[in-house]
Amino acid sequence: MNQLQTPFFYIREKDLLYDISLLKEALSQNWGNYVMGYSVKTNSLPWLLCYLKKQGFYAEVVSKTEYDLASRLGYPDDHIIYNGPIKDRQTFERVLLGGGYVNLDSSYELDWMEELGAAHPDRLLRAGLRVNCNIAALCPEESLVSETGRFGYCYENGVLKKAIDRLRALPNVRVLGLHLHSSTQSRTVKVFAALANMAVKIAAEYDLELDYVDMGGGYFGGRADKPDYRDYFRDICRELSAYFAPSRTVLIAEPGVSLVSRATTFETSVIDRKDIRGQKFIVTDGSRTNLNPLVTRHVYPHHIAYGSDPSTRSKEPTQWVCGATCMEYDRLFEIREDAALLPGDRIIYDTAGGYTMCLNPLFINYFPAVYVERTDGTIFCARDAWGNEEFLQKNHWEQQEEAYE
Ligand SMILES: *Cc1c(COP(=O)(O)O)cnc(C)c1O
Repeated sequence: MNQLQTPFFYIREKDLLYDISLLKEALSQNWGNYVMGYSVKTNSLPWLLCYLKKQGFYAEVVSKTEYDLASRLGYPDDHIIYNGPIKDRQTFERVLLGGGYVNLDSSYELDWMEELGAAHPDRLLRAGLRVNCNIAALCPEESLVSETGRFGYCYENGVLKKAIDRLRALPNVRVLGLHLHSSTQSRTVKVFAALANMAVKIAAEYDLELDYVDMGGGYFGGRADKPDYRDYFRDICRELSAYFAPSRTVLIAEPGVSLVSRATTFETSVIDRKDIRGQKFIVTDGSRTNLNPLVTRHVYPHHIAYGSDPSTRSKEPTQWVCGATCMEYDRLFEIREDAALLPGDRIIYDTAGGYTMCLNPLFINYFPAVYVERTDGTIFCARDAWGNEEFLQKNHWEQQEEAYE
């Protein structure tokens, strides 16, 4: 057990490299001509963004702020994939003219393409379109999508076709990409195969010759009981090859959580135990807000590092592990029929890399520290825990000087 002050996130480079190589192999063996994007929103830790850049990833961004962050960390414009329904005009122009991938999502972006095409008559502009199709209808046997997806242009009602026609009417704009990111609850291989088949269907129906097909993110990764990149890209590429060829069309993947899950843990300590009318509560210094700020999860994969031999302890019928905030809902999981937890024990949450350390609210406590264990075993601090030095930044209050008297 390491002696770093809890709570903190911990990234093992060895495991990160393992998932990166799994992705690279799956893409190179099944298609060969590929681009790996990394979904910045999933975990925008600057260390991680730099690390993935060195590993050859492009930055997949969905806001002006994310674009600016990726740029500052050294991603060139032609290694940016710009997605999302809320784009910034200046960023749009930069990525488009700089040779990056821009996947259109909204109606106003079609106007922008028209304007930019006219403003740069000497340039050939490449556009990609995000497809919105009825996944539930494609995969009726899976009850996986409860809501109608709201991103992209709808295939079924002809809006996608209209967008393609409108862009085609512009002399120097080419529709050269389709973007099929659709996050589903089930993350099954079948859904991805159906989406790849949809790309084939759309390209054939509208006679598109594509530079790229972007399959988005939304894969499982780092879990022995679930499919991994090898399963997904075997089936995706099988479908794509019905119409596309690697010699002409680049396959883009934009994973997020599947890439960083296995490598990342969140380490917390038991601070106290309480007995309230027979119910045992274990008070810890980590929180549900660190791991699942949206409070949608009910399962928290974890393991326990006992401070002393647990076989010598009394057995408790039930113990509830609780978090560090003063909110009743900050309860993580129940332990049944197991050794009593004691102060000094550590509870280590597994697969804690995605939608956690950068989605953490600044609530009661601020961002925890992040450490990286390099392949040679040395430990590097990638982010100091935030304190009030950081929280007070850019705040203004009256008689500010009094605080410093
Ligand atoms: C969120 C997102 C991803 C990554 O999704 P994961 O589930 O983290 O793999 C990829 N592409 C787009 C457009 C996204 O919005």
